[in-house]
Amino acid sequence: MKKGNIGVTTENIFPVIKKFLYSDHEIFIREIVSNAVDATQKLKTLAGKGDFKGELGELKVTVSIDKEAGTITVSDRGIGMTAEEIDKYINQIAFSGANDFLDKYKDDANAIIGHFGLGFYSSFMVSKRVDIITKSYQEGAAAQKWSCDGSPEFTLEETEKADRGTDIVMHIDDDCKDFLEKEKMQGLLSKYCHFLPIPVVFGKKTEWKDGKQQDTDEDNVINDTEPLWTKKPADLKDEDYKEFYRKLYPMSDEPLFWIHLNVDYPFNLTGILYFPKIKNNLDLQRNKIQLYCNQVFVTDNVEGIVPEFLMLLHGVIDSPDIPLNVSRSYLQSDQNVKKISGYITKKVSDRLASIFKTDRPDFEKKWDDIKIFIHYGMLSQDDFYDKAKAYALLKDVDNKYYTLDEYQTLIKDNQTNKDGQLVYLYAQDPESQYTYIQAAKDKGYNVLLMDGQLDTPLVSMLERKLEKSTFTRVDADVIDRLIQKEDTKREVLEAERGDRLSEVFRSQMPRTDKLDFHVETQALGEDALPVMLTQSEYMRRMKEMARIQPGMNFYGEMPDMYTLVLNTDAPLIKQVLEDSEAETLEKIRPIEAEIKGLTARQSVMRQEQDKKKYDELTQEEKDEMKKVGDDIQAQRDQKNEILAAYGKDSERVHQLIDLALLQNGMLRGEALTKFVRRSVDFIK
Ligand code: ADP
Repeated sequence: MKKGNIGVTTENIFPVIKKFLYSDHEIFIREIVSNAVDATQKLKTLAGKGDFKGELGELKVTVSIDKEAGTITVSDRGIGMTAEEIDKYINQIAFSGANDFLDKYKDDANAIIGHFGLGFYSSFMVSKRVDIITKSYQEGAAAQKWSCDGSPEFTLEETEKADRGTDIVMHIDDDCKDFLEKEKMQGLLSKYCHFLPIPVVFGKKTEWKDGKQQDTDEDNVINDTEPLWTKKPADLKDEDYKEFYRKLYPMSDEPLFWIHLNVDYPFNLTGILYFPKIKNNLDLQRNKIQLYCNQVFVTDNVEGIVPEFLMLLHGVIDSPDIPLNVSRSYLQSDQNVKKISGYITKKVSDRLASIFKTDRPDFEKKWDDIKIFIHYGMLSQDDFYDKAKAYALLKDVDNKYYTLDEYQTLIKDNQTNKDGQLVYLYAQDPESQYTYIQAAKDKGYNVLLMDGQLDTPLVSMLERKLEKSTFTRVDADVIDRLIQKEDTKREVLEAERGDRLSEVFRSQMPRTDKLDFHVETQALGEDALPVMLTQSEYMRRMKEMARIQPGMNFYGEMPDMYTLVLNTDAPLIKQVLEDSEAETLEKIRPIEAEIKGLTARQSVMRQEQDKKKYDELTQEEKDEMKKVGDDIQAQRDQKNEILAAYGKDSERVHQLIDLALLQNGMLRGEALTKFVRRSVDFIK
């Protein structure tokens, strides 16, 4: 028997393995099983080249649990190892600079294992002793037994073994006993070994017999050795892809479509990506793409490898060229990974373009489901935008679809404003914005539907990307000003009368912290509605952005700002104006005269004072200035009080305000009840 120390240069490796790899220690099974698979494939390769002439027999890897003995054994019929090979591959571990590295990557077991080639040693994460019983395929090789109990000491001796291949016997630690449970092991095997290329057998298939679950004679093969992504796309039918998808995600709806990735230069990558059908927004999950390395499961966190916007897709990616021995943050800067990410983006885009080209009706049918992916991509990656702009669709409120170019042509003649800007009109909620949509349609305008999750940032982006284009929600202004064609020369109310009328309404608007109303008079023509609520595009959009973007809280906390537009051409508004003047003018005239006088004095004083510096002003001058300001305010308050008193008593004013609110779904609770009562009274 030979005894020796494992060639660790700096220190004992085992405490390190246990300590640092603790969180991820279930991956030992992946490492040991894939070593067994490798050894088996090597033998197949040798046989293929004629370097191994013996019987191959049935090539499979067996995983078995002996609960009583407390062991997990992984057996293969691969190439096995000679004593020299054990010495070379198992005993000598290059292990320098270990501490630095481990400190840096202690949370990333894959990086550690990859870096040190510690695959086999990961078994010590769960074992108090590991035995290797192995017999090389080489003629005349003696079987060997290597054993190590987690100290740097090992033993190596000749032993008896009937068949070629290797058994790895792991004597499981007391605190890892749960790995000896059948269900647990079954779960781990299907997670990590589901698609290994050599059959992996775990016990026997069971069947229901005599009132209980019983073993049959048939091996329980846990893996699919030829997963779909390893096959040629030309040999596959739609149903094959759908079936594979069902296997991967049993709970999901049928995918919308898929992309088979297959490249071997300048890097190696295969895989299938699916566009899932998203039932609701809560469904949006990253981490649905599984990453494999030669059919060995590595992770379902593909951050940094797959472009951000495609992480919402489902599927598998298999590449031996993705370096796993670096931490995530280094991944992004890796040249191969960059190329892979670029390749995936391009493939996805090409596929979308080809569906668009060959089957536009189908593309349109799926658009509402896939737009979230495409919009996300266009927003997050310029190179994707450049490709997607050819097939990204806009949908109008009548469910017609247009490409960006088509839409431009459609609205060019009728929706260009006097400054040469193309104005895209949109609605977010066709129900509540119905009146405004209708008004726009009556003008011959087209209205887009922008009700998607990402439409707010998309609109801002399109404004940046498309030349001379602005987007405006249909209710952002009265129809004549949504798209201003020429400077309208309608008869406008004199400022003084307009102020009075506005104040009558302003004083009666609902008052809450969350709403802010501004009142404005406009001559909109006799046929237009007497009152309208509009919401400034800019503020509304800022608030919407604040909701999805951190760091914009300032806007988020602002009240919603609306403008009540009074149409001074409408007979009803004219009536309110005349009626209110008849009632209040007598009292208001003298106040207005007073205000005029005060304002004139104020501006004279200002002119005087503007000639001096502030600290040259005498206290008297300052006091006088302040007094004039206060007086003006007091007079205004008095005037407004009179107008408010009129407004308060005017059923007509209330009815008009309520109608404007109602049209925007903003009339609720007590106000709504009052409105209904008042309406009933009117009918009577
Ligand atoms: P890696 O697999 O990354 O090389 P491991 O520590 O997992 O590192 O294994 C070291 C070496 O031990 C392997 O390269 C292989 O030569 C040998 N080995 C491990 N397991 C087996 C096995 N089941 N059969 C034959 N050789 C094996």
